[in-house]
Amino acid sequence: MTTEPDATQPSADLHPDTVAIRSGRVGDATSLAPVLWPTSTFVSPSVDDARRYATSVGADRFYSRYGNPTVTGFEDAIAQLEGAEAARAYGSGMGAVTGVVLGLCSAGDHIVAQRQLYAATQLVFQAMCPRFGIDVTFVDGTEPGAFAAAVIPGKTTLVFAETPANPRLDVIDLDEVGAIAGPVTVVDSTFGTPVLQQPLKHGVDLVIHSATKGIAGHNDATLGVVAGSKELIDWLWGFAVLQGAVASPFDALNATRGIRTLPVRIARQSASALALAEALEANPAAAEVRYPGLASHPQHELAARQMSGFGSLIAFDVAGGLDAGRRFIESVQIAQHATSLGGPETLVTHPASTTHVNLLPEELAASGIGPGTIRVSVGLEHQDDLIADFTQALAAASA
Ligand SMILES: *Cc1c(COP(=O)(O)O)cnc(C)c1O
Repeated sequence: MTTEPDATQPSADLHPDTVAIRSGRVGDATSLAPVLWPTSTFVSPSVDDARRYATSVGADRFYSRYGNPTVTGFEDAIAQLEGAEAARAYGSGMGAVTGVVLGLCSAGDHIVAQRQLYAATQLVFQAMCPRFGIDVTFVDGTEPGAFAAAVIPGKTTLVFAETPANPRLDVIDLDEVGAIAGPVTVVDSTFGTPVLQQPLKHGVDLVIHSATKGIAGHNDATLGVVAGSKELIDWLWGFAVLQGAVASPFDALNATRGIRTLPVRIARQSASALALAEALEANPAAAEVRYPGLASHPQHELAARQMSGFGSLIAFDVAGGLDAGRRFIESVQIAQHATSLGGPETLVTHPASTTHVNLLPEELAASGIGPGTIRVSVGLEHQDDLIADFTQALAAASA
């Protein structure tokens, strides 16, 4: 929760690089580094104080499921980076997604969700919402007007988008989502981070991040966050306290530290990702290279308009299908085989033989994943070393 305006907090007209350094400094700010409050509970000087804390939204001196000063620092930093009035942290990105969906929707409501989504988020809409009597319509988020056309006035309570989106880095028009009136509009901006795009500035109501990824940025925190108006975040807080998907103070501390270098890391990763994507596009052993920074990306112009850089994620197909995809993963020497994204290490995954192994070929195709599709999270290694590594692994895979 964002607390009262504070002289130690940065003003709105600073650049993101500066906000990342100045933000999230709670308390009297004499500690330069974020302070860890591991406590689960707090001593109340009087019964009146305890009653006030127990009933005030976002109280961070009562019990840590309600709020915690280390977590408040992280929430303030995200709110400032997103240009939001307030933010609420969760124990993971999925904690944030379910906190928003279950906090805002009831039985009988209708949701419009993008078809191209992070797999777990998609399961929330496909399998979980129906169990609670919530109808969901899936739309192709890249089709102009698709979200608005699926809204049922008086029944649709939530519109949920993700951009750039899993698994093929589709880019969704933030202005279009932001212009929808009536339902609460939500954008999962994990791949963008607050540095590359700010959905709220396009009129979107809530922005969600898996801070596990680029925001914390070092694979040492499992954390989610939602930012938006104080009114909406206050409402979500009421559900979050019952939901219990609470952010760990230790993870919030790591994430606040990660935020200090977020703009620098994202700039470097975006530059390396573009160079790697260009090298892949020029390599005949790689096909279907998808990166929003490439002119060949179907929404390249939209990405250039609404993002200040193109991010660290690339998808491409290894020519030769399933076996070639496996051989590629086993041949890389600098990139490492692990799920997740946004950290210092370049990671590669082969969905067809791991996360999506149970899908039939046609289901795989419907979710935009080919048998040889590789997903890359570009890290902070030197781009020349990465290009050399991918080039030798592609040669080994297609040999
Ligand atoms: C990872 C991820 C999530 C889920 O976040 P967790 O922290 O793993 O729970 C949601 N959306 C996107 C786009 C993600 O990449």
